[in-house]
Amino acid sequence: MQDSSHRRSPALILITDDSKMIRQMGRESLEQSGFEVVEAEDGEECVRSFRESGPDLVLLDVEMPKVDGFTACEEIRQSERGAQTPVLMMTGRNDLDSIRRAYEAGATDFSAKPVNWTIIGQRVRYMLRMNEVLDDLRRSQERLARAQRIARLGNWELDLAAQRFTASEELCRLYGLGPSEGELSLEVLLDRVHVDDRGPVRNAVERCASEGTAFSVDHRVNLPGGRLRNLHLQADAIPDEAGRPIALSGTAQDITDRKRAEEEIRFLAYHDGLTRLANRRLFSERLRFALAHARRHRETVAVLFLDLDHFKRINDTLGHTVGDLFLQRVADRLKNCVRESDCVSRVVEDSVGATVSRFGGDEFMVALSSIQNSDELGQVAQRILDAMARPFELDGNDVVITASIGIAVAPEDGEDVDSLIRNADAAMFEAKNQSRGTYKFYELAMNEVPHENLQLESDLRKALDRSELLLHYQPKVELAGGRVVGFEALARWQHPKLGMIPPDTFVPVAEQAGLIVPLGEFVLRSACSQVREWREMGLPPLRISVNLSAHQFRTEELVETVTRVLRETPVSPRCLDVEITESAMMQNQKVTVSVLQKLKGIGITVSLDDFGTGYSSLSYLKGFPVDTVKIDRSFVRDLMTDPDDAAITAAIISMAKTLNLRVTAEGVETEEQLAFLRAHGCDEMQGYLFSPPMPADRATEMLREMLPAEPSSGSDD
Ligand code: C2E
Ligand code: MG
Ligand code: MG
Repeated sequence: MQDSSHRRSPALILITDDSKMIRQMGRESLEQSGFEVVEAEDGEECVRSFRESGPDLVLLDVEMPKVDGFTACEEIRQSERGAQTPVLMMTGRNDLDSIRRAYEAGATDFSAKPVNWTIIGQRVRYMLRMNEVLDDLRRSQERLARAQRIARLGNWELDLAAQRFTASEELCRLYGLGPSEGELSLEVLLDRVHVDDRGPVRNAVERCASEGTAFSVDHRVNLPGGRLRNLHLQADAIPDEAGRPIALSGTAQDITDRKRAEEEIRFLAYHDGLTRLANRRLFSERLRFALAHARRHRETVAVLFLDLDHFKRINDTLGHTVGDLFLQRVADRLKNCVRESDCVSRVVEDSVGATVSRFGGDEFMVALSSIQNSDELGQVAQRILDAMARPFELDGNDVVITASIGIAVAPEDGEDVDSLIRNADAAMFEAKNQSRGTYKFYELAMNEVPHENLQLESDLRKALDRSELLLHYQPKVELAGGRVVGFEALARWQHPKLGMIPPDTFVPVAEQAGLIVPLGEFVLRSACSQVREWREMGLPPLRISVNLSAHQFRTEELVETVTRVLRETPVSPRCLDVEITESAMMQNQKVTVSVLQKLKGIGITVSLDDFGTGYSSLSYLKGFPVDTVKIDRSFVRDLMTDPDDAAITAAIISMAKTLNLRVTAEGVETEEQLAFLRAHGCDEMQGYLFSPPMPADRATEMLREMLPAEPSSGSDD
């Protein structure tokens, strides 16, 4: 990138002499050498002409009337352009004093009179070329300085023999060294380094100087006002012929922003970003530590599980931003309560703050150690409940909320982290059930339901391997044409002793037992294989809907699984629809939405299941990656008897239309319901009226009967 726009061709020379003859000779000679010439007959005219014509070089006589050459040269040097223009002074006085004065006035070079006009052309050409080289160098230095400023990177060099330290402007700035700092040296630089980092930096420099070992070291620099800057310093030795270091050459780069980001990432791995409380991982780690400590010293540790009552209402009525703010305030109050409390000495010896944690949503955990008795624990719980019950001032609104707390104490209620948390959760659940805004201690009976499930859980583990799980298919019918456009795949469990178990019973067990991911993959794979089979039979392309549980959205892994299954079957993504319930969508919203967006990105459609039972806020729908809304069957059931349900159903349909969403009605059992839905513009229906869910072979038969005998090409997937 070379900028030579300022260079003129031919170059213009300003010749200044009070002798007309000399000007004439100069003009002829310079013009013959290919230059253009302007003339001035004294110093005053020279300065004026310089300003007007902007010559590339000035030939300047010293002795002239009015203003002499020295003064003219000084004036030329004052202007920005004049500072860089070569000036060749001509004088009849060949004494040292005049030469010195000429250079002091800023002359580039000096020529004694009489001037040898035959060679002046060569001389001028040489001076111009030199000036161009200097000009290039200046520009390149400017560019380098600019690049260093942008990269926040400076360079330095240390001449070992002369002990001379040089550094770029940016390097000085990075170390907070202004121009007033006096002479630059390695010591001046090291003085700026944070006292704890100075030793390692000095050692690295010294090793590099003595042994030639390159180094890179991160260190902090003290800036005015107590601020710190993080720098990455690196250097290498420059050796002489024998390989001994004669100089060090290095750079320093500002990495403050990167360091800050790294710290934030490290922090977020163990903390909740919203409230900055410990997250589940850190809490579990510290609780484990506290339990080990308590075991050795025969002490107790208590876990308090706090859940806000009806928190969802705040999000629904005041919006998520206020909801977030609210959670932060709750976190603050909780921290204060625990800090005030005298019995909370140390869950963990190194950090009292870590006793409080947010587990996500509106769930908080507190761990307390060295508690004397349950009365004391009850007092802490009550103190927390009282603190929560005081109104919160949020965005100009007074918000009142209650919380429910469940308490589990080690070792009686569990000796490890998981069982303590689980039992505190069960106690919290019980507190909510009995009356909100209270606390409850864990009792063995609370876990009876899960105990009952234990057998089912162990059976379910085997069921996956023993092919006891299967799918039933329920047709989805387009209201306009009465055509079957797809099927919903519904899981069934053929239990060897208990018979057919419905999904409402075993899906929650699978979720609790961590079996939902393999179960979900089984459903997905079976459903896709069924579509593939139908295609191979020559039946037209159908869309299959698969239900996904909220647990499957915990990680982004779902996208990989779906992609893999589609590829392996193989089935086109356009043949797959996923159903997710409204409440599942609202849990862990961020990840869920991101996963759904990815699924939609590959061509899969998304249906919002059981719509109307959860948040019922159509305004949320705008931001969500959803194609179809499925009106919950509870509304459809009472369409003809409950005017409210009829009104809600009509409203859902019309709102969905304005949002460009398709609407499916679930659980349609009667002709009247169907007529109502059709009249209001519902797109599809599903229900016993048309067909209950049925085994795969029945569904195949139905498709064969309904669809034209003409086999289709099968090119769709
Ligand atoms: P859903 O997704 O809302 O499925 C519709 C349910 O309504 C099915 O119950 C179906 O049999 C029933 N149904 C269909 N038509 C009618 C009707 O006209 N009247 C009445 N009263 N009911 C009707 P099912 O098969 O027992 O499934 C219950 C729920 O279990 C499903 O609700 C879904 O949320 C869940 N589920 C089913 N299969 C899976 C699965 O593979 N994975 C997951 N995560 N959940 C599943
Ligand atoms: Mg469904
Ligand atoms: Mg449903």
